[in-house]
Amino acid sequence: MFSKKKIFFALVMFLLIPSIVYGNESRLLEAPIYIDDVPINTRYIMREGHLMVPALYLKHTGAYVDWNDQYRSVVFKAKDKMFALPVGKSYSDDFNQSTGKWIRHPLPTSTIDFGGEPFVPLIDVAKKLGMGVRYDPKVNRTFITTNLPIAANSIESAGTTEKLVALTFDDGPEDYYTPKILSILKEKGVPATFFVVGRQITYFPEIMKQIAKDGHGIANHTWHHPDLRYQWSSTVKEEIISTQNEMQKVLGKKPDVFRPPYGAYTKADVAILNEIGMRNILWSVDTLDWSGMSAEAIMEIIHRDASPGGIILQHNFQSKARLLDGTIEALPRIIDDLQKQGYKFVTIQTMLDEQKGQNPPAEGQAIEPPVSQPPAQEKPIDQQPIVPPPAQ
Ligand SMILES: [Zn+2]
Repeated sequence: MFSKKKIFFALVMFLLIPSIVYGNESRLLEAPIYIDDVPINTRYIMREGHLMVPALYLKHTGAYVDWNDQYRSVVFKAKDKMFALPVGKSYSDDFNQSTGKWIRHPLPTSTIDFGGEPFVPLIDVAKKLGMGVRYDPKVNRTFITTNLPIAANSIESAGTTEKLVALTFDDGPEDYYTPKILSILKEKGVPATFFVVGRQITYFPEIMKQIAKDGHGIANHTWHHPDLRYQWSSTVKEEIISTQNEMQKVLGKKPDVFRPPYGAYTKADVAILNEIGMRNILWSVDTLDWSGMSAEAIMEIIHRDASPGGIILQHNFQSKARLLDGTIEALPRIIDDLQKQGYKFVTIQTMLDEQKGQNPPAEGQAIEPPVSQPPAQEKPIDQQPIVPPPAQ
């Protein structure tokens, strides 16, 4: 039988243990970290005096971040450096390029699972990646110098004074709005560019073929339409390449232009696009049509924001409701109005070729994600990437 004292002790321990185990790490906070002088917000927790952030946040530095399911470890890669941080361990396994061996090094704190997500000690990881780290107590902020230049590869509008403008339609192909858009474009004799989702091509290959047959630009918009910021680097690569392969299969060709879902991406995602040889196309005119905007409201935005080299963002797929009636109603009016103002409609590919003739793209830091982003339309499908496992 338990004595009253023992039961009391057990009760006290039962109440105390969660606070001992979780302590201050249960407080999830949010603050900006300065990465190459650009403030980028992150969720974080303080644990034993260490600043712990979601492992994927490190993608903003340009480093590749992956997950190894076998070893339950986060794998970081930048330049010639590669190391793995296993969850629940206070060490890292570092890959030695010259010997091909993994060598274990202690860390001052352990990598943790927080709400199903790996959190890593930011300062230690950044230093291991060869980055400069500075904490300024006056402003209570952390500054990271990445020493990892990522060539600029993001285009909001083409650098041209010529009155060229590009219509772009995202998220298709599908069989309700896409045929209506195609018939308006055909009637007006105007080309557009379709940023297609790989999975949608498998559902509507004939409509995909019609888009290409009508002379429109084709472009990659991932396979599942996930927010790239929250995907492991190898998943991002897979999302892009599988869509490229599907276009090659259905059309016999593939594009070199890409748009990230929601216009959201990190420097590591741009590095992948550079690696594959694709341009990151954003927009300069956001019609906000996905929100069920009326044709009148869309026209107001077009008149306000259209400019030479402009890229107009519209959609041709809406999963939840028929919200794009305004897009269909506005389209002939957009074409007529802008043509009256002297604009010529071109595909993104043609626009980039024109730009190449005028201004060669500058090398430097990738630009940051734009502020305006449509809300999530589809849930990402979790995928575990395969990376070389660290030796135990
Ligand atoms: Zn989209």
